[in-house]
Amino acid sequence: MLAPKGLRPTAFFQIFQSIVRSASPMLEAIVSEFKSASRIVISTHTRPDGDAIGSQLALGNYLRAKGKEVMMLDQDPSPYNLEWMPGTDLIELYDGSLRQLEFVAQAEIVVILDTNVQDRLGSVGKLFRGTSAKKILIDHHTDPEHWFDLTWQRDTASSTAELLFEIFEAWDLDGITYDVAAPLYVAMMTDTGSFRFSNVSANLHRMVAQLFEKGGIDPSILHAEVYDKKSIEGIKLLSSVLSTIDLHHEGRIGTVVVTRRMLSDTGASVEETDGFVNQVLSIEGVLVALIFTETERGTKVSFRSKGTNHVHKWAQSFGGGGHRNASGAFILGSLENAFRKALASAPQFVDLPNLETSGDLSDEDAEYLNSLMNSQNN
Ligand code: 5GP
Ligand code: MN
Repeated sequence: MLAPKGLRPTAFFQIFQSIVRSASPMLEAIVSEFKSASRIVISTHTRPDGDAIGSQLALGNYLRAKGKEVMMLDQDPSPYNLEWMPGTDLIELYDGSLRQLEFVAQAEIVVILDTNVQDRLGSVGKLFRGTSAKKILIDHHTDPEHWFDLTWQRDTASSTAELLFEIFEAWDLDGITYDVAAPLYVAMMTDTGSFRFSNVSANLHRMVAQLFEKGGIDPSILHAEVYDKKSIEGIKLLSSVLSTIDLHHEGRIGTVVVTRRMLSDTGASVEETDGFVNQVLSIEGVLVALIFTETERGTKVSFRSKGTNHVHKWAQSFGGGGHRNASGAFILGSLENAFRKALASAPQFVDLPNLETSGDLSDEDAEYLNSLMNSQNN
């Protein structure tokens, strides 16, 4: 199809796509389910991030204003820097109480946001999967499970919030008050690295324009609320973590580690490591950045990458998953073990032309790891 004169083909294609979407039967079906329901449960993944909590609050506040009875029910609490958002005090942590179980049993709809697998819902996963309510998935991760009744999903979407906006657009844009627009903006902002990742589109910016116009948001205030609340302990932790930086495969892969010792020495909480890995990715020539976080049970690994160096399959090989350029996995055993395993499998998942592909750690890496672990044990 030819783009009209004066309009770039990509821009034309995006507008065309958004017209097609706004007339989608799936969107209509989801909106119609919401309209006819009176009790709705909304949940999101464990260790929720800005997109998870922002989307949950935006949908919760939107539905409440439409007269619906809403229960927002999660396994884990919101991060401290999101607690100011309107409605956060209404998010309940699952405790298995009769009141919560009754509400879920009587709800007509359960909405799952920002994850597409039962495991990542934690303790509420089994409950939601087993209920007779309609299960609606709104999410932008790859490879969804198949137990949902209605699905609004696109793994090329920047955020769950972008998909949620499309639902609001199909229903009633005037429902976008400040209490909906602010969390929606925070969700988009946090999942796009403040609107700079490759999944940011003209369409997303058109949505943001509506959040200004309908919701009266002020991005400078929202940005400061989320990002300018670091603690001195968190900055000291950043300093320790960055001192472990190491490059592998001739600078293509960068790593840092967070040990339990660093957390206790600095007094920072593990949530404050959010975003550290991006410092590693910002090094010129680094294609993939990994951060290894030691926990009592094993090691959390976060994978971040640039451009076409996709990491979701790599994370999946350890039982994790996520997006093409941002994924995570949990590897049982010691930090040292996770570090070795992840780096050894790098050549299978990252294009490393003409570089070492033996799968073993180089002598240099082994020595580095050794010295790191020894210094932690002292
Ligand atoms: P993060 O590294 O910030 O924890 O997560 C990055 C992305 O990877 C998130 O969007 C998250 O959905 C996904 N992810 C992180 N950990 C896991 C995991 O253990 N399993 C799966 N399936 N996805 C994960
Ligand atoms: Mn997300």
